Amino acid sequence: MATVRTADGRIAVHALRVGWVGVKGAHREFDAPAFVAIPAIFLGRSWTPWMPIVVYAIEHPEGLILVDTGADSAFAQKPYWACDKRTGLFYRKNLRFDVPAGDDLDARLAAVGLRADQVKQVVITHFHADHTAGLHRFLDRPVLTGAGNWPKHRGSFTCRWPTNFAPDTVAATPFSTALTGGRALTTDGRVRVISVPGHTPGHVGVVIEDGDKRILLAGDATFDLAQSARGGVTGVATNRSAARATQRTLTALDTTGTLVLPAHDTTVFSRMRRYR
Ligand SMILES: [Zn+2]
Repeated sequence: MATVRTADGRIAVHALRVGWVGVKGAHREFDAPAFVAIPAIFLGRSWTPWMPIVVYAIEHPEGLILVDTGADSAFAQKPYWACDKRTGLFYRKNLRFDVPAGDDLDARLAAVGLRADQVKQVVITHFHADHTAGLHRFLDRPVLTGAGNWPKHRGSFTCRWPTNFAPDTVAATPFSTALTGGRALTTDGRVRVISVPGHTPGHVGVVIEDGDKRILLAGDATFDLAQSARGGVTGVATNRSAARATQRTLTALDTTGTLVLPAHDTTVFSRMRRYR
């Protein structure tokens, strides 16, 4: 786990590892249309090493903001996926999860002195299961995502929530190194949800303003910064040209001082510790 604070000490960003995920090689990186990539993922036999599933908690004077809600130890059991058999089949065949005891969200929040009942609002970068397993606990609080992420799109696992659930949505805006636009989550405008396009139709990230620096919580726009540096597109990206452009922008941000924090990047913890 790791924490960074803004220079003025008013905002803290905590990276909370809530288990591990492994995916097929073609899922992690495969630049081909979906009708080629998806069969390649099903047929693939190579697996990535375990990658962390990182939930970010933003402590702001106006309240606690959670960015994604992690995985669930019940992922290992077939009944978890029963409410959407087609999407569930993809997860069961093509992803591996490990959520050991002590890696749950409550334990991770407690380790940094926080509790789930303090969460004021939740941002869902996209509705893949490893980002939404804990969402049912926060449906009585504002939930925000990108407009294209809702209603359900391919690969999202939404059947476990009440039929009347509908998140607030933020319209898509251009993604550039300016990191402008989007929706402010705080009255000081220092925490904003912005489009980070390519992975899903409405994929979003969160920008935290830190004086002359910025922190970008990048969701699954890339698995890690090495992948974005070589322009590697994930096999499940719904818009490959947008995903490629996003990779270039992430690399430009990383090389000019923005702290870019994806959701499955093993290097986020060490890079956060080196941030100041
Ligand atoms: Zn993910």
